[in-house]
Amino acid sequence: MSEPVPGLDCDTIVIGAGISGLYQLYRLRELGQTVRVFEAGTGVGGTWYWNRYPGCRFDSESYSYGYSFSQALLDEWSWTEHFAPQPETERYLNHVADKFDLRRDIQFRSRVKAAIFDESAGAWEITLEDGRSCRSRYLVTAVGPLSAPTLPRIAGIDDFQGEAYHTGLWPKHPVRFEGKRVAVIGTGATGVQAIQEIAKTAGHLTVFQRRPNWCTPLHNGPITPAEMDAIRQEYPSIFQRCRETAACFLHTTDPRGTFEVSPEEREAFWEQLYASPGFAPWLGNFRDMLVDREANALFSEFVAEKIRRRVRDPRVAEMLIPKDHGFGTRRVPQETHYYEVYNQPNVELVSILDTPIERITRTGLTTTARTFEFDLIVFATGFDAITGSFDRIDIRGRGGETLKGRWKRGITTFLGVMVDGFPNLFMVMGPHTALGNIPRSIEYNVEWIRDLLAYLERGGLRCADARPEAVEEWTTFVKRKGAGLLANEVDSWMTGVNQNVEGKQVRILVRYSGTAPEYREWADRVAADGYRELSLS
Ligand SMILES: Cc1cc2nc3c(=O)[nH]c(=O)nc-3n(C[C@H](O)[C@H](O)[C@H](O)COP(=O)(O)OP(=O)(O)OC[C@H]3O[C@@H](n4cnc5c(N)ncnc54)[C@H](O)[C@@H]3O)c2cc1C
Repeated sequence: MSEPVPGLDCDTIVIGAGISGLYQLYRLRELGQTVRVFEAGTGVGGTWYWNRYPGCRFDSESYSYGYSFSQALLDEWSWTEHFAPQPETERYLNHVADKFDLRRDIQFRSRVKAAIFDESAGAWEITLEDGRSCRSRYLVTAVGPLSAPTLPRIAGIDDFQGEAYHTGLWPKHPVRFEGKRVAVIGTGATGVQAIQEIAKTAGHLTVFQRRPNWCTPLHNGPITPAEMDAIRQEYPSIFQRCRETAACFLHTTDPRGTFEVSPEEREAFWEQLYASPGFAPWLGNFRDMLVDREANALFSEFVAEKIRRRVRDPRVAEMLIPKDHGFGTRRVPQETHYYEVYNQPNVELVSILDTPIERITRTGLTTTARTFEFDLIVFATGFDAITGSFDRIDIRGRGGETLKGRWKRGITTFLGVMVDGFPNLFMVMGPHTALGNIPRSIEYNVEWIRDLLAYLERGGLRCADARPEAVEEWTTFVKRKGAGLLANEVDSWMTGVNQNVEGKQVRILVRYSGTAPEYREWADRVAADGYRELSLS
């Protein structure tokens, strides 16, 4: 495949140069393919390129998040914190791009606006925003599950004359908060990280909260060189554990039920979880915590009590305790002294459920109760998750059918990687794929796609399309796996709801909530059986 076929510019086009796109490029080059990657940003890293807001870091343990594929990379890279901050992860991904000489196939400042399947030629043609185009046999989307930022739908949003930033489009120049009147709108995982950092220096910080989330302590800390040496020795067992756990994290569910232990044992276990780093309270809890209402209510009350103890003003504490959903049914933000921020004299919490924002003005904003003046507004209002980056590209398959139109009728995929009627289109981190500790799932998806393309090449085949019945079977499985999960009864990006995006007000099944090992078992079987679920030609 080293020489492109006449009429084609390359074998495969990859959209996006985050963790997914970089790794897909690396693996496809191994097949001898010519690959071109188109990336909207000016550098590699995806999430870790765009999200430069203060306090940004991941909640996966650093050494469980990095790539696992290269021993040399594992040997030479040192993480400095258990949960690395954004600048470190961006450096890491730049190091990966340099080490494997990936940049020469990546075109930056290149946002793809359309991808059309040309049936007669069996080729994909993408068009960039600036009008350039490129044709290939295969198209891989590596556009990210959380990469389409959304602003709130508030009147006057363009009127504000001060500084205003969305956390997912944070500028590269330093932003200073000293002495400024700052507003943060949004208290999801990102808002929580930004608030606890901005509160350290802002003259005055007003937090506008629509709904509180259940947050637990991150318990981050530095990694000494000696600890890093020990971690290096443990890499095989770290990645083995990530392969075995439900969500590819180091944490995994406790096999006991909440009510199978004595109240004293339960309390002691929960204290231990609350004192443990990372997602332990969410993913390492009793096996019924996310499915049994009573179990969930009991642990929610345990966390509520922690919040009451940490926030001095009981009125503010109650505002910070979620009343509309149980613990872990939405993405759990990880915090470091977040609740204590509300004990500071320079911080105020405003509930925009009680007093909604009416409009943004030239100098601040007005709610139904008050007028506020600000120097700087931070929009921590998140993303049009999972399908948002797909919806922003005009993707058309056989017969000119649009992917967006298809998914309006309900999301259907084969393994979250393919969609019938869109031949040779492969998604890394598409809807209905296993998520969890995402790089672990990315590596699996990328290698599965690489293996399929190698299979096609070996068989002299040029086209793979998912069979509709295979799509239906996978979609049914996804539905079955989502049944009974309390999280699927709650509005969140994990159920496809975003109040700021038109048409995304109703819950849908946007993600696969079975375990990653089950996912891999299914996908491995497809490959081992010669891809009978696909129509190959
Ligand atoms: C603040 C934050 C914290 C997170 N923390 C964790 C965590 O603790 N653990 C975890 O597992 N995951 C976490 N995630 C999820 C994170 O997105 C994934 O871990 C991972 O980075 C996804 O990699 P990706 O390459 O698939 O997508 P991304 O990193 O999102 O990269 C996608 C790239 O595609 C580009 N792109 C999109 N559309 C186009 C287009 N039309 N044309 C050209 N380029 C395009 C984007 O510019 C972007 O660079 C976090 C996400 C955020 C936002």
